[in-house]
Amino acid sequence: MARLKLKEHLINRDWCKGCGICVHFCPKKVLEIDSQEKVVAVRPEDCICCKLCELRCPDLAIEVVTEQPDQDDAGKDSINTSRQGD
Ligand code: SF4
Ligand code: SF4
Repeated sequence: MARLKLKEHLINRDWCKGCGICVHFCPKKVLEIDSQEKVVAVRPEDCICCKLCELRCPDLAIEVVTEQPDQDDAGKDSINTSRQGD
């Protein structure tokens, strides 16, 4: 399966209260709080699209928008019936 590719961090600056939760949860130190107490993506190139920031934000103020990994795979309708485990 193709890896997710970052398109952008969608940050709602009106909703962000600068609590820094997302900053602390980000494993790649992509996010920082700016001088206006709002989150900003300072190193988007390091983002691995784990979406921890989005999942942990209590105010839904940050969204990780990803690109479709591969145009050719997007329309395929494959059914995976393989079983997990052994
Ligand atoms: S967790 Fe949400 S409210 Fe807190 S700094 Fe991050 S985006 Fe802003
Ligand atoms: S998606 Fe993951 S790596 Fe990217 S900014 Fe959010 S927490 Fe950091």
